[in-house]
This record gives sequence, C-alpha cells and structure tokens, in this order.
Amino acid sequence: MTIATETATVYRGGGRRWFSKSAAINAEAKAAYNAIVKSKHLCECGSQFIDGFGEFNDYCRYHDRSEPIYGRYIRYATYCIKRNSI
Ligand SMILES: [Zn+2]
Repeated sequence: MTIATETATVYRGGGRRWFSKSAAINAEAKAAYNAIVKSKHLCECGSQFIDGFGEFNDYCRYHDRSEPIYGRYIRYATYCIKRNSI
C-alpha cells in the first residue's frame, strides 16, 4: 500500500475549505447571516434544562430554521454569492 499526494480544487467559504462549490456557498451565506445577527445583538439562543429530559436547545427566532427570516436571508445570500462567484 502506498499513499500519494494529489492536487484538488477547493472552494473557500465561511472561513474554511470545501470540496464542492455549493458547500462553500452555503457556509458563506450562513457566516454572513451570523455576522449580521451577532453585530446587531439579535441572537437570544439559549438552552434550558427540562426535568428528567436533560438539556433542550432553544433557538431564537433568528436561528430557528423553520422561521422565514432565516430561510429568506440564506436564499437571497446564496443567490448573490452564486452570481458573484466564478
Ligand atoms: Zn440565535
């Protein structure tokens, strides 16, 4: 058995490297969203302890993925990034 090195194209997005363009775009969109939410101090995510059931992660309305505010931003940011990338 041997190992070899090879060159591969990687896509940079959201502060790390990805092997697919769509993964990089998703990461970049999420990073952009988190930067806005953090800079405006909107996030109120927390966790609460439920008796007998351990910890329950409680997402604020900006991070709850079922809320339209998250989905709309990610969709729009994805569109913008796709348009501006090679
Ligand atoms: Zn949050």
